[in-house]
Amino acid sequence: MQPDIRTILGSQREEASILGSLDTKERLERVLRIDNYLRNEKNLQGLYEALYNDLRKPEVEVIATEVGIIQSQISYIKKNLHKWDRDHKVSTPLPLLGTRSYIRYEPKGVVLIMSPWNFPLNLSLVPLVYAIAAGNAVVLKPSEMSSHTSAYIRKMITELFRWNEVAVVEGDATVATKLLELPFDHIFFTGSPHVGKVIMSKAAEHLTSLTLELGGKSPAIIDETANIPQIARRLAWAKSINCGQTCVTPDYVIIHDSKKREFIEEFRSSITELYNSSGTGTEKSPDYCRIINHRHFKRLNSLYQDAIEKNAHLLTGGNFEEEELFISPTLLDNISEDMSIMQEEIFGPLLPVITYNDRSEVKDIIHRHPNPLMLYIASRDGKNIKFFMDGNPAGGTIINDYMLGYSNPNLPFGGINNSGMGKSLGFHCFMEFSNKRSVIHRKWGSLGLIYPPYNDRVLWMVKALYRWM
Ligand code: NAD
Repeated sequence: MQPDIRTILGSQREEASILGSLDTKERLERVLRIDNYLRNEKNLQGLYEALYNDLRKPEVEVIATEVGIIQSQISYIKKNLHKWDRDHKVSTPLPLLGTRSYIRYEPKGVVLIMSPWNFPLNLSLVPLVYAIAAGNAVVLKPSEMSSHTSAYIRKMITELFRWNEVAVVEGDATVATKLLELPFDHIFFTGSPHVGKVIMSKAAEHLTSLTLELGGKSPAIIDETANIPQIARRLAWAKSINCGQTCVTPDYVIIHDSKKREFIEEFRSSITELYNSSGTGTEKSPDYCRIINHRHFKRLNSLYQDAIEKNAHLLTGGNFEEEELFISPTLLDNISEDMSIMQEEIFGPLLPVITYNDRSEVKDIIHRHPNPLMLYIASRDGKNIKFFMDGNPAGGTIINDYMLGYSNPNLPFGGINNSGMGKSLGFHCFMEFSNKRSVIHRKWGSLGLIYPPYNDRVLWMVKALYRWM
């Protein structure tokens, strides 16, 4: 039986010093418990059920977008932890002759991880495995909206860890608020920019360090040189996987006017090919997810209605079935900035299409919104690619494809300002959970020559020292 959160924090604090002194092998053993659990077919059955109940997620996507990602991060940790975990020697400037300098990545202590509902397993366990690898004790609060998967995570973690090492606390914003009153040593939050601001102000009370993995409107630019059939198919998939409820989903398209007609045709036929090849309708496809709940369904429906009332044209899709929480992939054009769909992150399968004639217009459109998590560029012209990247800050950029941002652990993943701060994946994520302690170890010599009493010789020495730095 797990005690209340204050008791958990108190016990985890005591345990943290033990966890912090574990060697690489012992930390890895803890990380691998999760890997072994997810390799057991019996355990996977429970997960398939949980994710089906939460999002109607097909089994292929459970592996591709949840379990597989966690396992690939674990194997990356397995290959690299021994390198991250040791002291990192740095060079020594001449005036510090006689000393040795190094950086020691040490655990922050007790960390809080808060996760969203859209990839509820992946976005809980990926930060968790890095937090454990870095030697921390962890309180994990998964989302109340994906309640089946949250219960699965709690059962799994309770089987694998003592609660004074890793504890799962389920609950809604009320529980989150109570957790945020406690002095954690780091908070790793994945969720909306709106709640991110709440987290930041709460963290400020204890000056707790923060990683914020947020969202926002990620634009997809398609220029006049892009391979339209190829890019439309990729975009149709990217906008439909998880029913568009992905932080890196392209939020809106900015396409060169000369390519719009071809793009619409190709997008339509790609949706048919992917989700309606039998002609029975996308709603019958076993491969198409559902909206997480009625609140989000209504939110998306009102974004759509507002756009239509303000003269947006429906190009394809537009089927909303509330009982089923089904929304078809929906393409809209004749978009104006006063539409709500252009003012907030869509986070669903609605895709507004905006056209441009001169590439300078693209920057004006993007600059109306805060810096995005991803900036997508479809182009075969190197100069255009450079033009669209320069002066358009984004957490990441994918050229001629979509979604891949969370797949290479050698690259940092995360946003900028409104789309987040701090980075996930690989060494970057390990660092988020580590204090970078700098160590200078004097072996011989001293700085005694510049001690008082001061005179012209000391002044000359000080000036010379800084010249040699
Ligand atoms: P959310 O911000 O509503 O919730 C995230 C977490 O915060 C949940 O655990 C929730 O219980 C908690 N929470 C909600 N309200 C709170 C409050 N007032 N005080 C304290 N805690 C509170 O986000 P969501 O709806 O679960 O997820 C969607 C958002 O997450 C989108 O904006 C999406 O772009 C973003 N996201 C970002 C990433 C990323 O890696 N950058 C990944 C997935 C989702």
